[in-house]
Amino acid sequence: METANHNVEQLHHFSCAVCGKWWTIGDAPVEKTDWHCPWCGEMNNYESVN
Ligand SMILES: [Zn+2]
Repeated sequence: METANHNVEQLHHFSCAVCGKWWTIGDAPVEKTDWHCPWCGEMNNYESVN
């Protein structure tokens, strides 16, 4: 049986404080704490995520 390569992608789940919707970013850089919500475009700060 061959060994297949695979990557474990760490998914970061964000919820928007403005519109309340969720989105997910794979392998998001932990030093980045300000994200624009893809739903409503508002800036959110996730300093407490990591
Ligand atoms: Zn939003």
